Amino acid sequence: MLKCYSYDIVCQEVPDEITLAVNISCCPNRCTGCHSPWLWSDEGQPMTEEMLSSLIGQYAAAVTCFCFMGGDAEPFEVERLARWIKDTYPHIKTAWYSGRESLPEGFTLDALDYLKLGPYIEALGGLKSPNTNQILYKVHNDGKLEKCCLK
Ligand code: SF4
Repeated sequence: MLKCYSYDIVCQEVPDEITLAVNISCCPNRCTGCHSPWLWSDEGQPMTEEMLSSLIGQYAAAVTCFCFMGGDAEPFEVERLARWIKDTYPHIKTAWYSGRESLPEGFTLDALDYLKLGPYIEALGGLKSPNTNQILYKVHNDGKLEKCCLK
C-alpha cells in the first residue's frame, strides 16, 4: 500500500497546472545524494480511496492536477489509484514522478497525463537543471509520450 508522507499545492512541477503533489514514502530507489531521504522510511497515511477522497475533496476546486511524487515500490498501485482519480474527478489531471529509468512491464499509461522518469543524480540535478538526466513527458490520448519542459 502506498503511504502519503506529506503533500503540498505546487505550481511548477507540472506545466500550466496547479498541482496537489503527494510525497510517497517507502522509496526503494536509494539515489546517491537523495534530496528527500526521509521518504525512504515506511511512514505516513495509507493512500486508500477514502484517504484520497478526503484529501482531494478539500482541494478539488483549487487544483487542476494530482501528482504522485514517488511510489516506485508499488507502481501498479500508482496506476490503479491514478485511474480511480480519473474516474472520480474527471476534471483533475494526473501525473507521476517516478525515479525509475523506465516503466515496469505491463504498466499502462491511460490514467496518466504526465510522467517523469529518471533517478535523481546529484551531479546532474533535477528537472529544472539544464544537465538533468530526468525527462518529463506529456502523455497523449493515444499513449504517445511527448517530452515537455518545466517553465
Ligand atoms: S527517487 Fe527521490 S526520494 Fe527516492 S531515493 Fe531518489 S531522490 Fe530520494
